[in-house]
Amino acid sequence: MLRDHVALITGSTSGIGLGVAHRFAAAGADVMLNGFGDPGEIERIRGELAQTHGVRAGYCGADLATAEGVRELVAATRSELGGLDVLVNNAGIQHTARLEAFPDAKWDAIVAINQSAVFHGIKAAIPSMYERGWGRIINLASLQSLRAFPDSLPYGSAKGGVVQMTRAMAEAWSRDGINCNAIGPGFVETELTAAVFADTELAGRMAAQTAIGRNGALRDLDGATLFLASPASDYVTGQTLFVDGGFTAR
Ligand code: NAD
Repeated sequence: MLRDHVALITGSTSGIGLGVAHRFAAAGADVMLNGFGDPGEIERIRGELAQTHGVRAGYCGADLATAEGVRELVAATRSELGGLDVLVNNAGIQHTARLEAFPDAKWDAIVAINQSAVFHGIKAAIPSMYERGWGRIINLASLQSLRAFPDSLPYGSAKGGVVQMTRAMAEAWSRDGINCNAIGPGFVETELTAAVFADTELAGRMAAQTAIGRNGALRDLDGATLFLASPASDYVTGQTLFVDGGFTAR
């Protein structure tokens, strides 16, 4: 389904991004990994992706906290893998604290990585997609794009912005064959949500809030990400698809 496509997944050394990299590689895409972690483990993941699926897999550890870092990552993808067809803006961080005491530096970092990196990423990626007359951008939104969670204004603000940026990107480029959509996952156990899942009572309350009655698993995102990356979604753009077990339906 994605053979001869190059996909860059930001923040793909763990969690949701790593799951997407596996899914896309299994569908035939060449993938560029990004994110932090143990160099030996990242090299093992890169090699495993390439060998298991017979695709090219690269890695660039650029820090997406700055526009320069984002541009370095896109340039590395183009030079190493020969283009860029699918950009998944997945890298994200979270920090919660009483708002009166929320550290300024944490606000800056959350907005930089969850929102500004999306803006810098699409700016850098669009020329490559224009060249081919086809492209797919998938942004990672959140339940907090729509709902206010305690002590989490910066993250919710950035994720709300991601939903609106997705519409604006669709408005800008869909006529050129470049569709932009977002995915809003429910609670999925990753490093980012470790504190929620460490609190079994809280994790249980989150599961009870869904219509389906459980929290999410990485595999739950496979169908939606693959759909939005492929020609199957040719007439879908500017949308945020919540893959949340019905959390936001209630
Ligand atoms: P995670 O912590 O497992 O992964 C985050 C990834 O981003 C890692 O690879 C990390 O190295 C990378 N990263 C962090 N800061 C970076 C930086 N400055 N430069 C480059 N890479 C950086 O988190 P996750 O849960 O897999 O989250 C992935 C995305 O999904 C995030 O945007 C998150 O907001 C969103 N999301 C997650 C959930 C959930 O329940 N896990 C729910 C809704 C939305």
